[in-house]
Amino acid sequence: MSEKFLEIRNIVKVYPTPEGGEVRALDDVSLDIAAGEFFILLGPSGCGKTTLLRSIAGLEYPDSGEIVLLGDRIDDKPPYERPVNTVFQSYALFPHMTVGENIAFGLEMEKIEKDEVAKRVVEALAQVKLSGYENRLPSQISGGQQQRVALARALAKKPKVLLLDEPLSALDLKLRRGMQVELKRLQRETGITFVFVTHDQEEAMSMGDRIAVFSEGKIIQLDTPVNVYRRPVNAYVADFIGETNLIEGTIVASGISLPGGNILPTNQLAEDSVVPNSGKVTVAIRPEDLVIANDGIIGGTVRDVIFTGDSVRVYVTVGDIEVIASLASYGTAIPAQGSHVTLNPENRAARTVAS
Ligand code: ADP
Ligand code: MG
Repeated sequence: MSEKFLEIRNIVKVYPTPEGGEVRALDDVSLDIAAGEFFILLGPSGCGKTTLLRSIAGLEYPDSGEIVLLGDRIDDKPPYERPVNTVFQSYALFPHMTVGENIAFGLEMEKIEKDEVAKRVVEALAQVKLSGYENRLPSQISGGQQQRVALARALAKKPKVLLLDEPLSALDLKLRRGMQVELKRLQRETGITFVFVTHDQEEAMSMGDRIAVFSEGKIIQLDTPVNVYRRPVNAYVADFIGETNLIEGTIVASGISLPGGNILPTNQLAEDSVVPNSGKVTVAIRPEDLVIANDGIIGGTVRDVIFTGDSVRVYVTVGDIEVIASLASYGTAIPAQGSHVTLNPENRAARTVAS
């Protein structure tokens, strides 16, 4: 990561609740975003993502902390003095204006000259693959196309930072996947820094250069998609990002004692796993890292088998817990319900996680 581009320093934002209490929407959040980065704010509903985005946009003022863009403090500036632009989930196009007029409007407000406005409208529409749609009204295009217009409108202003608050959540899955690929490409081509909010971990992983995982107003982990997935810092991240078997165990001489009398030798764990000398640990194993083996480490009884097309999900009762294994659809013998199987963690992908 090169020089500092967007610095978020110790941001705190507390809202009063109607009941007389308070919510710490942002609880001392600090992070640096690099120029040209596709940065993701990820977390469940209510964890503070929108509040942070609105604070960067100037639609919300933090109680304390600083926001610095290219060396300039912007957190006390009004929104229109910040070189940022926002795309919201609800696209809010003006219904009585054409697509072209919707995009031009913000530029005209900025007193940009007519020829330049026209040029930027054409360019922005081409960027979102809507060339030729200038004269349509929002009601004459689909929801997905309306979202593209909202994006074009924001891009046309040539912001230094584009803030996107769950912009794809109103689209159906297939359309959303297509837009994810396009947004990623558009970000690369324009070189504009994107700060993208989502609660969808798959969306976060497929687009982000880096992901900040939030919980209750705090950043729990900030890392690349691969590291957030493969090296979650705690059980919360392991569970929120993808799917994980979180298994409570106890340290014994031969390894980690798991439910059902199974012993996992510690040399099966990821090399950077932290293994205490004694006491309880939580072991995280992804379903896709478990295989059915002839003489595997974790024995149990098959409760359910679900064929999903690209995988076979096997639910195995192990002692008093349930472990999910996701097997490749081809080349795998599908175990019968009720049969006894043993599972092996593969690739040393099992790891201990802080609870
Ligand atoms: P997210 O976008 O991650 O879903 P938000 O940033 O919208 O979360 O909200 C974070 C927390 O702050 C939530 O508990 C929410 O209820 C609260 N909150 C957000 N905006 C306001 C507001 N204007 N007044 C009171 N509470 C708010
Ligand atoms: Mg939100």
